[in-house]
Amino acid sequence: MRVAVVGGGISGLVAAYRLRQALGESAELILVERRDRVGGILRTVDIEGDPVDLGAEAFVGRRPEIPELMRELGIEDQLVFPAGKRPLVWSEEAGHRLPERTLMGIPAAPESVAGLVDAQTLDFVATEPSRPLNWTPGADVSVGELVRDRFGEQVVRRSVDPLLGGVYAGLADSIGVRAALPTLAAALDRGAASLTQAVSEALPPPSTTPVFGGIRDGYRVLLEALRAAADVKAETGTAATRLTRTASGWHIDPIGDVDAVILATPAPEAARLLHDVAPFAAALAGGIELASSAVVALALPVDTALPDNSGILVATGEPLRAKAFTLSSRKWPHLAGRDVALVRASFGRYGDDSTQAWSDDDLVTAAVQDLTTVTGADIRPVRAVVQRWPGGLPQYAPGHVSRILELRSATTDLPGLALAGSYLDGVGVPACAATGAKAAALIAAHLG
Ligand SMILES: Cc1cc2nc3c(=O)[nH]c(=O)nc-3n(C[C@H](O)[C@H](O)[C@H](O)COP(=O)(O)OP(=O)(O)OC[C@H]3O[C@@H](n4cnc5c(N)ncnc54)[C@H](O)[C@@H]3O)c2cc1C
Repeated sequence: MRVAVVGGGISGLVAAYRLRQALGESAELILVERRDRVGGILRTVDIEGDPVDLGAEAFVGRRPEIPELMRELGIEDQLVFPAGKRPLVWSEEAGHRLPERTLMGIPAAPESVAGLVDAQTLDFVATEPSRPLNWTPGADVSVGELVRDRFGEQVVRRSVDPLLGGVYAGLADSIGVRAALPTLAAALDRGAASLTQAVSEALPPPSTTPVFGGIRDGYRVLLEALRAAADVKAETGTAATRLTRTASGWHIDPIGDVDAVILATPAPEAARLLHDVAPFAAALAGGIELASSAVVALALPVDTALPDNSGILVATGEPLRAKAFTLSSRKWPHLAGRDVALVRASFGRYGDDSTQAWSDDDLVTAAVQDLTTVTGADIRPVRAVVQRWPGGLPQYAPGHVSRILELRSATTDLPGLALAGSYLDGVGVPACAATGAKAAALIAAHLG
């Protein structure tokens, strides 16, 4: 039995690992990866002798996928949690506390955004329940459209955009309510009389469990453990260029014939590979837009006077180039004891790819200048590392959930083919891992 997984990011690696578990040691598993390394958007490098993540650096720890994988793989001692410090929002050229008790920045009460928005906006939020709400059950609109209409522009730009920017590198206007905030869409579908009521119903109960988790020595620990346990033949530096059906399975150029295939690539590549075998599915995948981003990791003298916050998110419209800073040494206790203070500056938003063309020097200069502006500290990096992620994040536009339902149903008559990846059920690492596991289960059932 020969199965190929195309794409060696977390989605593909989890798919390969779950396939190994389901098919046993005799199956031949091939991981086809275009780059010369596995991991995709997960990348750990050493800075001043210690590991630092340049792609994802955390995961939603309240979801089970990553802690479960770490336990299974015997690396649970690597599981770490943030210190619990709050980020700031940089708006109107000043730092503000990130609003509390919000759903992705959407407040359930005006007090949440007091100090961040003006008095007129606070009044607009306070009186929102008295204005009639038009919501058609099953409908989808952009988060921006919904929140602007009910709570005003400032809530969108100063509270919602900074949080959505962190997850999707998108803006409230490019992300749909149903995919990004399913519990909010459900509350609206149930007939909530106002957005205030819908947010209150959708907010999870207060909990002391940390929302996020991380990996002490970086994501590479998980990548290496998955790769070893999956026991795959990794064809790195090899791009799958064409997919066709054979009498008994599939043919992938340049790998050859296989009994089954999992496509775990970003949406545009899935679209290209599906083009000959499922043109409608290919068109649906090809219609998903992407946002590009870049990360500048800075190592600073350990006594740099950074604020005691986990990070600083930048509101839309501020005269800065960076969209967010993670003050990694403040956010993560396991990084606090290092010889340098670590900061990650993030650049790039949907619709503006300009930072991809900047030189490394320009990105580092912008990171240093903007970090100086938002912290008031003297920023003198001892080392800076630039990582670009062109097209790294799919945009979950309004209608995304139905697009994916259609896409899945357009591939059900292709036995032995399954899809995984960040464009399907969520961009976060746990959601990607879940798509890999789901794809592996589908293929195991087909081959079993
Ligand atoms: C800067 C940044 C920060 C992030 N931070 C977080 C975070 O803190 N927490 C979190 O949960 N999520 C985070 N995310 C999101 C998360 O990291 C990604 O959504 C996830 O890693 C994507 O995994 P994937 O395997 O689906 O795709 P990818 O990692 O993109 O992997 C797909 C792989 O397919 C390969 N490929 C493509 N075409 C072909 C082909 N034709 N043949 C062979 N190989 C091919 C690519 O080279 C790539 O390696 C972040 C994303 C970015 C960009």
